[in-house]
Amino acid sequence: MNLGLKDKVIIVTGGGAGIGEGISRACLAEGARVVVLSRRSENVQHFMAEMEQAGSACTLIEAHLEDANRCREAIAEVEQQFGEIYGLVNNAGVNDGVGLASGSVERFQESLQKNLIHYYALAHYALPALKRSQGAIVNISSKVALTGQGNTSGYAASKGAQLALTREWAAELLLFNIRVNAVLPAEVMTPLYERWLKTLGDPDAKLREITSKIPLGKRMTLSSEIAAATVFLLSPTQSAHTTGQHLIVDGGYVHLDRALT
Ligand code: NAP
Repeated sequence: MNLGLKDKVIIVTGGGAGIGEGISRACLAEGARVVVLSRRSENVQHFMAEMEQAGSACTLIEAHLEDANRCREAIAEVEQQFGEIYGLVNNAGVNDGVGLASGSVERFQESLQKNLIHYYALAHYALPALKRSQGAIVNISSKVALTGQGNTSGYAASKGAQLALTREWAAELLLFNIRVNAVLPAEVMTPLYERWLKTLGDPDAKLREITSKIPLGKRMTLSSEIAAATVFLLSPTQSAHTTGQHLIVDGGYVHLDRALT
């Protein structure tokens, strides 16, 4: 199936590790040119070294996305370097555990900076280019937006707002033929997830407990499975009439009958 993404310029925030890395790889496999907007962590460096060695059309623009000015500069750099933007995948985020009781107003605001404000900032600054290309936006949200988790108000608020913005932007951008959709993962093994597991007493036991409750296959979702949904939603040919959707890729974790597990 031809997804029609060849040579398209697609920005993937946090695209050098975890789910974002999976999305970058899937976009590259479709012949797109990928711009990873991210901090330069060890994982990211490793991924970029592999991309360079393979001669992949993948470029890193370093950015701490909580800085809205840096978001504006980064979009300008992409436009200067590539002359266009077709896709924006808002993906970078962190489940930072700012609870209602345990947190503070300041930490809640910081969490919104880490998880939400850059989704808006990048879409806002990329909009003129997206209008020219009749592009697509995919927001990576989370099951936490629908289920809650406990002790993570900033993350939950951000993930819920991302779903609302997906509908809002889909409505606002109809006239420009720009499509906006969201993908909601539940349990995906990534560096972020591994870090969280390690904070628990017995990570292996916790992982077994979690996977035993995932109806389809009793296993974690793969980054490549989130990526497959994302490239479909980016595709101007295959998802040309799909907008404002919230696609949950979770092995039935959120919606299937609990009696099944
Ligand atoms: P991850 O393993 O931490 O990868 C995210 C990448 O983005 C990392 O390279 C990280 O940098 C970078 N990044 C994060 N915040 C950034 C910022 N403010 N500025 C620049 N770079 C930033 O995370 P993941 O598990 O793949 O999660 C990706 C998305 O999926 C998030 O939106 C998350 O909420 C969502 N999600 C994940 C799961 C899951 O099970 N993993 C479930 C539901 C939703 P560092 O390497 O320096 O941290």
